Amino acid sequence: MTKVNLEKSDEEWRKILNPEQFRVLREKGTEPPGTGKFLHNKEKGVYVCGACGAPLFKSNAKFESGSGWPSFYESVSDDAIVEQRDTSHGMVRTEVLCGSCKSHLGHVFNDGPRNKGGLRYCINSISLDFRKKDD
Ligand code: FE
Repeated sequence: MTKVNLEKSDEEWRKILNPEQFRVLREKGTEPPGTGKFLHNKEKGVYVCGACGAPLFKSNAKFESGSGWPSFYESVSDDAIVEQRDTSHGMVRTEVLCGSCKSHLGHVFNDGPRNKGGLRYCINSISLDFRKKDD
């Protein structure tokens, strides 16, 4: 089955996203640390792409990293996200993008919880939406 292509032009994205969402999601920006609306969210549910709504991270994979950004040790599935090498700002990092619409989410680092695989997905709150799960 072919995956739905959710990629759009900048012009189309500007109609959907507010300027700060556009700056982070489409221009690979970063929200200031400690400011994001989901940083300390402890509710159960799933974090979805702020641009296209695709599920990205479950709340049970979220942990307090102290970085100032929402942090997760795994994505909902391997194809939920795409990773690519990022050499901007004089650093070599691994960028994390939405697997569906290729919007910028954040970066992944190797200093996550060791008993959970050791990864830390460092994600901008503004790149996410949250779907609360009532149980
Ligand atoms: Fe997306």
